[in-house]
Amino acid sequence: MPDRDTLNPSPPSPETPWHAADAEQVLNQLSSNSQGLENTEAERRLGLYGPNALPAPRPTPVWLRFLRHFNNSLILFLLSAAVVAGLLGHYVDASVIVVVVTVNAIVGFIQEGKAEQALSALRSMLAPTARVLRAGERIAVDVETLVPGDILLLEAGDRVPADARLLRARGLRADESILTGESVPVEKSADPVSGEADLGGRTSMLYSGTLIASGQATAVVVETGARTQIGHIGALLGKVESLETPLLQQIGRFGRGFTFVALAAAAVLFVFAVLVRDYAWVDALMIVVALAVGVVPEGLPAVITITLAIGVRRMAARNAIVRRLPAVETLGATTVICSDKTGTLTRNEMTVRSVTSRAGMVTVSGGGYAPSGTLSAPEDDGSALAAARRIARIGLLCNDAKLTESDGQWRVDGDPMEGALLAFAGKAGFDERTLLADLPRRDEVPFDAAHRFMATLHADEKEGGALVCVKGAPEQMLALCAVQASADGGPEPLDHDFWRSAIDAAAADGQRVLGFAWRRHAEMPQRFALEDVGDLVFAGIVGFIDPPREEAIRAVADCRAAGIQVKMITGDHAATAAAIAAQLHLADDIRVVTGQELDHVSDDELQTLALSASVFARTTPEHKLRIVRALQSCSHVVAMTGDGVNDAPSLKQADIGIAMGNKGTEAAKEASEMVLADDNFASIDAAVYEGRAVYDNIRKVVGWTVPTNGGEALAIVLALLAGWVLPMTAPQILWINMVLTVTLGLALAFEPPEPGIMRRPPRRSDAPLVSPFMLWRILLVSVLFSVGAFGIFSWGQGLGHDVETSRTMVVNMFCVMEIFYLFSVRYMHGSSFTLEGLKGTPAVLLAILAVVLAQLAFTYLPWMHAVFDSRPVPLFEGTVIVLSGLAMMVFLEVEKWVLRRLGVFDELRLASDRAEEH
Ligand code: ATP
Repeated sequence: MPDRDTLNPSPPSPETPWHAADAEQVLNQLSSNSQGLENTEAERRLGLYGPNALPAPRPTPVWLRFLRHFNNSLILFLLSAAVVAGLLGHYVDASVIVVVVTVNAIVGFIQEGKAEQALSALRSMLAPTARVLRAGERIAVDVETLVPGDILLLEAGDRVPADARLLRARGLRADESILTGESVPVEKSADPVSGEADLGGRTSMLYSGTLIASGQATAVVVETGARTQIGHIGALLGKVESLETPLLQQIGRFGRGFTFVALAAAAVLFVFAVLVRDYAWVDALMIVVALAVGVVPEGLPAVITITLAIGVRRMAARNAIVRRLPAVETLGATTVICSDKTGTLTRNEMTVRSVTSRAGMVTVSGGGYAPSGTLSAPEDDGSALAAARRIARIGLLCNDAKLTESDGQWRVDGDPMEGALLAFAGKAGFDERTLLADLPRRDEVPFDAAHRFMATLHADEKEGGALVCVKGAPEQMLALCAVQASADGGPEPLDHDFWRSAIDAAAADGQRVLGFAWRRHAEMPQRFALEDVGDLVFAGIVGFIDPPREEAIRAVADCRAAGIQVKMITGDHAATAAAIAAQLHLADDIRVVTGQELDHVSDDELQTLALSASVFARTTPEHKLRIVRALQSCSHVVAMTGDGVNDAPSLKQADIGIAMGNKGTEAAKEASEMVLADDNFASIDAAVYEGRAVYDNIRKVVGWTVPTNGGEALAIVLALLAGWVLPMTAPQILWINMVLTVTLGLALAFEPPEPGIMRRPPRRSDAPLVSPFMLWRILLVSVLFSVGAFGIFSWGQGLGHDVETSRTMVVNMFCVMEIFYLFSVRYMHGSSFTLEGLKGTPAVLLAILAVVLAQLAFTYLPWMHAVFDSRPVPLFEGTVIVLSGLAMMVFLEVEKWVLRRLGVFDELRLASDRAEEH
């Protein structure tokens, strides 16, 4: 790949280094301004300087990826056997082995390619965006399209998308460990630093790839792509996701152990055949090799990878984007889902409903974000309406959101709660532009989940001095206030009891409550930091409605039926959270624990508390981490949602960290296993459903592959031990393997979920893949298969057919039994004799068609006869073979029915059935 630097010119080098120059000077140098570039100019620069991306890692060449499929001890063993067979003149055996091995490698290669495609499609769905100012408009653009001169708007949790010079910073700290190795976040400001400062000391700069740990910033992009600092050190973007999952590793280990045992057994068998049964050693070798191929499930890892990849695709179609493949397995074992409230369980479409001040309560009409509606007070109480307007004014000034209208639809750009406050201010008669002209914002303390309020500082252009506007969690606000606004607007001592009962009343109704306060300064304060906010006048509270999502109510019911507990962990008020939890039917008996209570319990006590409570209110990100740990120590498999930068530790700790795609920060996304494209709780439920289906399918693939391989091996071993004529030749065993693994086995990867999959309890995460029931199944089916093989073989011989015809009948018998067994496996515990069961799926029908065609060719084509020593099978014998396969399926269905009656599937009994018994 050509170096990008040789393709695109570099932006002009600054006279003074960017970090030492004045912010204004940097803007001039880059021919930009505080309103951002015009769109056409941004496009021109993109063409000139190239995309803001680091060179992709060099892909592994196709031929090498293909050859890797041969780098496996079993395959190498087979290839050496083929060479030996060839040297000894057994060309048919040699070529059949080579074909089997090659087909296996091709299938593995294609499947791996598909799985990788599925994952890279997900990566592009998660392509990061950056917020920029272009022509004065705040817009989100693809990080790749950033150009020098773009104005970036950054906040806590964002990954810096390009090297940039700060223009404005508020409480800004950046984690630059990937560049400098310094793990403590560095404080940043817009002030220039010495030209000699090293990378770590350039506090006026933000570097691509680093993380904003806290605060807000505006910065101008100075370098993009390979010219950034991270580009210089040659770091590569887009780490390639490994396709290895714990389950695949487990299967890989099992496969290697199994291969070893199979080879040892084959060696013993070889010695036995030559010394005791007087086989020519070449024949004995070929049989033993065929056996080894027959018994080792060499195609299994590839089929499982594709099963996982299909799961990933199905989840993505339902808005759950898996970032790490193992999550697909773990999702199916999830026992507790800890979810945020706002936006995940609720719609996050906020509307102001009530405003309470000391002068009385005012209700607000009108839905959505349209600024049309009215404020009404009982008996048109003028002082209550005036107080509500004062609160609306604070809400408008202390606000970072924007409302936009297109086609009569009003939308929020920013926090929906702040959007609701803008709409409320509009209803109260305020015009944002006029108000901000009178009271321009000079500074702010951004909202943070840790301090739960936001404050802005405004210059009062009309009356002089300054005005501080603050909004936040009401308890927090009361703690910052010394006085309150009385009914006529003047200051009076704070009436805590009055406010507490007003807050409780609104919250009990499910309203989200926010407190509002202000303070006047005769002079513009010199500094305005978090600790400077205090001594405020409490104005009142506002209640917002944010109804639960309909689909979340259904999904919660679904999860509960599936034996999964749902817990709400929210920063909101306890009473609001409890009211919403009740509307969602989170539990029969809703128990609420607050963050304050959590602060006073030990980790041991927390375990009991975490198990019994279903709502955790007024929590901080640290509480989330403790709750996950407590649940995990009680053997729970925990899925946890999060969006903020501070949620990263708990997302990492959870078995499945789930980040919000829309409102989640880049830090949260990077820490999680899964991202919800629509921020919706229902998508978690859908992902669990698909996760269970994937795990079921993997068990089905294993449950089908192992006994069919076992059946073949058992038949050959028995014949060898007993000294009978072999029911199949070595090339025939290889044929069965080749035809079946890549068709029928693969069809199971596409199985849709079984009905009732969400009505059984979660599987234990430590449960072995092969359960006692599956082990029994493997033995039973292996025995049935060898009985079938020998039965048909001796019947053929009894009818007077030659050995070749009888062997062809056995090969056909195997294929027929495997087809019928496939139908049985599709429903592991339920009956397969249903209309749905018999209809199959397109994948199943296609696979069967392929097998049938291959078998017809094998049985009736003369050149096949030459290669495999097969013979035509008469119609009557053929019919008996098909009917015997059917008889085997009936037998297995009866077995399932008996086991069901005996209660062997008790561990899997439907949760709802169990509930009914109680
Ligand atoms: P969840 O954790 O379920 O998303 P949440 O949105 O209430 O719930 P946080 O974002 O941690 O949780 O907010 C905690 C509290 O801080 C809110 O209940 C509210 O009182 C206050 N708050 C939230 N956003 C703002 C904001 N932009 N300005 C001021 N106060 C806010």
